[in-house]
Amino acid sequence: MVEVVLRAVEKRWGDFTAVKSLDLQIADGEFMVLLGPSGCGKTTTMRMIAGLEEVTAGDIMIDGQRVNELEPRDRDIAMVFQNYGLYPHKTVGENIAYPLRLRKLPASEITARVDEVARKVQLEHLLDRRPRALSGGQRQRVALARAIVRTPRLFLMDEPLSNLDAKLRVSMRAELRHMHFEMGTTTVYVTHDQIEAMTLASRVAVMNRGEIVQLGTPQDIYSNPGCLFVASFIGSPLMSFMRGELANGMLVGNGFTLQGIASTFTGKVIVGVRPENVTVVATENADVRASVYAVEYTGQSAMVTVLSGQEHLAAMASPDTHLTIGQPVGLNIDRGAIYLFDAATEKRIRA
Ligand code: ATP
Repeated sequence: MVEVVLRAVEKRWGDFTAVKSLDLQIADGEFMVLLGPSGCGKTTTMRMIAGLEEVTAGDIMIDGQRVNELEPRDRDIAMVFQNYGLYPHKTVGENIAYPLRLRKLPASEITARVDEVARKVQLEHLLDRRPRALSGGQRQRVALARAIVRTPRLFLMDEPLSNLDAKLRVSMRAELRHMHFEMGTTTVYVTHDQIEAMTLASRVAVMNRGEIVQLGTPQDIYSNPGCLFVASFIGSPLMSFMRGELANGMLVGNGFTLQGIASTFTGKVIVGVRPENVTVVATENADVRASVYAVEYTGQSAMVTVLSGQEHLAAMASPDTHLTIGQPVGLNIDRGAIYLFDAATEKRIRA
């Protein structure tokens, strides 16, 4: 069992608090993703788990043991970073073997382990090369191989895919997913990329300004955002938002009226809706009248962005839709799929 528990963990530099009293319980075998915008405290949190950053207050427990004062090398953690951290003068094989040499394993066992891991990440033909003679994706795989070669009790990964091109990122994502399935090692993974978080995580901790604002499975975070921040961060394409005044189930906004909203709330609100729940229709009888701002064809569908008053809204349309920029259109919004947020607190309104 390798459970990681953060109890009221805090990190302060002078009077700046980067991580605020964070509580998080990571279950054995879980793939926990810390997701959030730049500067929200994800890397600091992970560096504290690794022992690379001192904890100002609170406790970090690994496997039931308090590790606050334990040196990084004594925590039995393997780390993979964005910049790989490979030794340039060592070959691929020597880089992968390094953690085993440090532990003074017999040479024959080292060779066998390196061969096995190199096969797993498809590097067996590159073992004699030096890192500078590898592509970014190959270097990333060396860093991964070096991390998995000694079966640590915990993996920490900080944006390990962000230096790769889009295609490699997708294939490495699948690679990581498969590896986690095979090894089942508890993993903490830091990213600002919500697609990476959604595709890899058992659970996602969405962070903002040093705090976890929501913790849940990817499905939960996507379909049940608790606040405007999470709703505006998760989903590709992103959710659209409209501001207005809600009373008696009727929302009155700048240039539009939406009837039939199932809520008893009265006051200023922000309505969120995902593009797949917005339909482009003729202007008569439409919920919202707008003009086409941009059309992006993706092959499977067309993303239509419209301008209504000051607000951009997005709708998913069929790829054979023919619209021109500036053309007046109407939008219908699926009432069952809207999210309501209190404009003052930005919290979700659930009734
Ligand atoms: P990114 O995605 O950009 O790496 P992040 O969410 O990982 O962002 P952190 O690196 O954890 O963010 O930084 C959190 C905050 O702490 C930031 O505002 C950062 O400027 C600040 N910070 C980080 N290291 C230090 C330091 N050594 N001294 C003072 N402030 C720091």
